[in-house]
Amino acid sequence: MLPFKLVYSDNYYLPIGSHVFPAEKYRHIHDRLLASEIAESSDFVVPVPATDRDVLLAHTPQYVEKLKMGTLSAREQLELEVPYSPELVRAFWLNAGGSILAADHALNDGVAISIGGGFHHAFPDHGEGFCMINDVAIAIRRMQRDDKIRTAMTVDCDVHQGNGTAAIFAGMSIPSEPLAPVPNFTVNPSRVAQTRLRGAHVEDVFTISLHQQNNYPVFKPPSSLDLNLPDGIGDAEYLGCLGSALSLGLSEFKPELICYLAGADPYREDQLGGLSLTIEGLKERDTLVFQIAKAEGIPVMVTLAGGYALNVEDTITIHCNTVVAAKEVFGEKG
Ligand SMILES: [Zn+2]
Repeated sequence: MLPFKLVYSDNYYLPIGSHVFPAEKYRHIHDRLLASEIAESSDFVVPVPATDRDVLLAHTPQYVEKLKMGTLSAREQLELEVPYSPELVRAFWLNAGGSILAADHALNDGVAISIGGGFHHAFPDHGEGFCMINDVAIAIRRMQRDDKIRTAMTVDCDVHQGNGTAAIFAGMSIPSEPLAPVPNFTVNPSRVAQTRLRGAHVEDVFTISLHQQNNYPVFKPPSSLDLNLPDGIGDAEYLGCLGSALSLGLSEFKPELICYLAGADPYREDQLGGLSLTIEGLKERDTLVFQIAKAEGIPVMVTLAGGYALNVEDTITIHCNTVVAAKEVFGEKG
């Protein structure tokens, strides 16, 4: 039995048809975790959908109404990049409920993982990039509303910048000006000293995003700390940047909860990513986040976010390894 909970429902599945987003991955991860005896069925807890009141903690009433009533404009539907349906709305509400439940369990057990979620491209007033609503932002705001936490930190390791999350916690509703390209980028830990540390936006939620600079989204609203990584970097450079980002972030800000977005798309065989991490390197990444959270005594809630490997089995392995890494760091009950 794991010393933490895995949050999952078969209804996490996003009904989007044949799509680069492998919506069936959630069920395959669940099944593989059981078949490989990484987890047992009693480790799983089943979420209920977020309420509209929860969703409104991070989204505008106008946007929520459009989603519920099916009145998105053609342009808004295009931006979403997944086909709108009432069933899809239900799946996203359930994923948000799963992130709320995972945050709650993380506060009790030190760590919890939702086998879903991480829809970080959803803004207060619109969705984009396969993300309808921002489950992590909703979970943080719900924990705050319930007086369970005052502060949180997002650690977004998806290969794409967490633009929606940055916008929500900066109180912005539209992307700001594009970031200037970073000249003469050299990868080493001192790089962090040159990154954009947005003290002005540090309020109750500190947002960290490690992402490929030359990738979607074109306009990257500033996170509290953005690491704009160059194309093609591998395990060692990435892990150095991550360690530096976490130590700088945690020296600036002491959160009561870390929300870790364990995207599988920094993988070198990802179709939508341009970094060069290996499957082993991605597991080391997860381990590093868990070790630091544990050492700092900060609970960590995990969501999966993106993953578009040429071979979907690799995406499933990377996500399962996140559970293995948590099990190794946080121990196993006898
Ligand atoms: Zn991504």
